This record gives sequence, structure tokens and C-alpha cells, in this order.
Amino acid sequence: MSTDPQKSIETAPRVRIAPSPTGGLHIGTARTALFNWLYAKKHRGVFVLRIEDTDRARSTKEYEQAIIEDLQWLGLSWDEGIEPAGGTHGPYRQTERSEIYATYLKKLLDQDLAYPCFCTKEERETDRQLAIKNKRSPIYAGRCANLNADQRAQKTEQGLTCVYRFRTPDRAIQVVDEIRGKLKFTGSDFGDFVIAKTEHAPLFLLANVVDDSLMNISHVIRGDDHLPNLPKQVLLMQALGFAVPRYAHVPLILNPDRSKMSKRAGPTHVREYRELGFLPEAILNFIALLGWNPATTQEIFTQPQLIEAFNLRQINKSGSIFDLSRLKWMIGMYIRALSEDELVRRSESFWSEAAKKQSTELKRRALVTIKERISHFAELPKLTDFYFLDKLTIDGPLLTWKKSTLQESVNALKGVRDFLASQSESSFITPDKLEAALKSYVTQSGQSVGAVFWPLRVALTGRSASPGPQEIMWVLGKDGAIKRLDSALSAF
Ligand code: GLU
Repeated sequence: MSTDPQKSIETAPRVRIAPSPTGGLHIGTARTALFNWLYAKKHRGVFVLRIEDTDRARSTKEYEQAIIEDLQWLGLSWDEGIEPAGGTHGPYRQTERSEIYATYLKKLLDQDLAYPCFCTKEERETDRQLAIKNKRSPIYAGRCANLNADQRAQKTEQGLTCVYRFRTPDRAIQVVDEIRGKLKFTGSDFGDFVIAKTEHAPLFLLANVVDDSLMNISHVIRGDDHLPNLPKQVLLMQALGFAVPRYAHVPLILNPDRSKMSKRAGPTHVREYRELGFLPEAILNFIALLGWNPATTQEIFTQPQLIEAFNLRQINKSGSIFDLSRLKWMIGMYIRALSEDELVRRSESFWSEAAKKQSTELKRRALVTIKERISHFAELPKLTDFYFLDKLTIDGPLLTWKKSTLQESVNALKGVRDFLASQSESSFITPDKLEAALKSYVTQSGQSVGAVFWPLRVALTGRSASPGPQEIMWVLGKDGAIKRLDSALSAF
């Protein structure tokens, strides 16, 4: 196996997303998955999903399942990895690979490139304090670095347990990052680090590099919170005789104040967006542009366009700010582009219980009247509840137009009610037709638009803000509309 230089990109790339199931799918991980997916699609490569569950205390099956479901929901299907994909480089769950890691740990130990460390917490703390006092960096002091076989046996006999440390060479480590460019590290900055807690309990650093190598990963595209791990991983790969993949560290997603993204900027997990009824294709479009600059003013990209345009080199070096209002704007664009049938289908589970009992046609029409305003389907019940109430409570002061008395507004309502009742059903066929009829009625009766439309809207909805009365009556139909107007009039 070759070591440096880093792997060439001539062959079809193999990329991966390697989430740790210690929480649901974070929006940042989703973006990393997307960048990997786009890269694989663009270069006809392979996108692998591996589950990094070496942290047994914090990893759960539920989180693993949630991550899988949410990646699927976003449409980021993987070519190889965890079920249902499978593949020839498995198993793809780290807890099922402990024998493999044990082999590589043994290899390092046999070559004295790693060693057992018996230091107690107290000893490490004493060394740390001493280093701080002497203005040295508080890296591992090396108490166990040069124990001979007898000394190790003695410690084991004393009942001391050990962890395994990598023997870090004191030299410069250079890596060319696809986004960051040339990066330089020095071994003495971090010293001998722990790679396994026991022979069968590797830590992330070891498992991660063994997997990337055995799974033949050519490009590691991941969040730059992993930059501190980079020199350690490169050293481990070199020590194990593995070829070093190309690395691309993607800057983090930030709050508007440039701190690391938190709830302050918006929901942080894909599941929350899913439950709020955000469209997955719009989320993908939005997160693709978080940190990747396609050098065009185009904002709405279809998936083939994203694949075509994507380029790792165009990922910004600095973090990108999460702007929830921009996401909502984008979702709105996608919602308005949906066909009516799609709108009905995609919004299905978000309706109120009262609405669910109604006909699909009624819901379809209700959707048409609010689709300009909605940004996610969880808003549906709030925006449409008045369509589905059996009885509205109409408040006198609300019914009163600002330039009229209550009695004048009631009279205007009565007039327009009689006018509408005299219209044929066919006048209710489109909102435009109804609006034209209403406007000519207003002109002919010598009233102002507000004096008629205001009480009409309130009587139909019980609200001061809603879609236009013509749209509401188109949804309710002639009988439904007249029933509401009569019910409102009976209260005054
Ligand atoms: N398991 C790591 C995480 O979830 C990913 C490590 C990597 O991509 O190299 O942050």
C-alpha cells in the first residue's frame, strides 16, 4: 500500500458520511452529507454511509434509526453502507468491527508505534499542573512511554488497567486540504494520544482511519470541527501504511452573531424541520448554498443543477450564517411551484382534525388560497382554521368597518348577502368571477369597497386578516358562504 502523496482523484471517488448516533441528524451533518452526495454524483463516485458508534455510552439505536430515516427523507440515499444499501466493505457499523480494529492496534503495538499507558487520573493531573507551571503545553508527559516489558507486567500484576497511546513523532505534519489549502501541524503540539481504551474498545481516531482506509475512501469531506483530529489521523494512517485520503474540511454553520449554530438561529435538527412541514428538496437547496458559493446569482437549483454546478473548491473558508428567514422564503418558492395535487398530498398529515374530516376538494381550494403565504405546513391549521369551524363567533366591534357604525356594517352585510344569494352557483366557480360580480355590486349600490368587503370578510371568517372574501366564498361554495352570512346576521 502506498503512503504519501495523498490519493489521486483520477479514479471515481469514494466518499462517506460517518455520523455518530449520539443525537439526531444535525443540520450541519445533513449539509456535510449533501456535499459528499453531490461530490459522488458529480464524479460518478460512491457515497457510503457508515455509523460511528464507538462511543457506546452515548450512542443509541434510536438515534441511528432517526439519522437513517432523516437522510432518506432528504433524498440523500447512499450507494453503499448501512442497510438497505449494504456492500463489500462492511460491516458498516463500528461496534461490529472491533476485531478489525484490534488487529490494527496490535500491529501498532508490535512495532512499538503505540504503547500501553497505566497512568492514573491523578498522575496525569499532576503532570498537567506541572507543565502549566513550567509554561509547557499540557500534553501527555510520557511516564509510560518507555516502560519495558517487565515494568508493564508489574503494573498489570498490581491490578492497574491501561489505555493505549500512539507514539507521536516530534515532527512537522503537512496536509493539503481541498478547502483550506496547505496546513501545517507539529506532533509536539498534541503529544502521545489515546487510541483505544482496551484492546477491543478503540477510540474514534483509530476506528475512523482504519475504516476510511479499508473502505477505500478517497475524499473525506467533513466539518472543520474535526481539524484538530487531522494531524493525528494522518500520523495514524502513515504508521499503519495506509494511503492518506484527500481531506476537505467544511466550515461550520453559525448563528447570526457568528457563534456556532444553536437553537437561536432556528431548529438545529432535520427531524424538527420535517415535523414542521418544511419541504426536503427546499432544505437541500438551502443548505447546499450554506458555505458553497456557486458564483452565480441563481438561488433555486434543481438537484441535477446542484450536481452539475457543485465544486469543492468553491466552498468558503469561513463559516456561513444560518438565516431562517431565507430558508422560509425558499420553501415558499418551492411550495408555490407545487401542483395542486402535490400540495394536497404533501400537506396531508398537517391538517387539523376538523379539516381532516372534510373533502379533499375543500382542502385543495383552501390550500390554493393560502399558498402565497405559507412557508411550512405546520402553519396550515392556523392559516385555515376558519374554513373548518361549524360556528363562528362574530364580534360586533370587529364587524364594524372603521368608517361606519355597527348598524351600517350590518346593513351592508345584509345587502351583499341578498346580492350573493341571487347569484347563480356558476358565479362561485372562480374567485375572479366572484370578485368581478362583487365589485360591480359595490359600484352599483354606491358604497365603498371597504364598507362592504370588511363586514363580509369578518362574517365569513371571524377575523380581520384572511384571504380575500371572494377566495373564501369560492372555497366554501354558495351554500356554505350564505350560511355563514346568515349566521352572522342573526347575531345582530
Ligand atoms: N463521527 C464523526 C462525527 O459524527 C465524523 C467523523 C468524520 O467525518 O471523520 O462528527
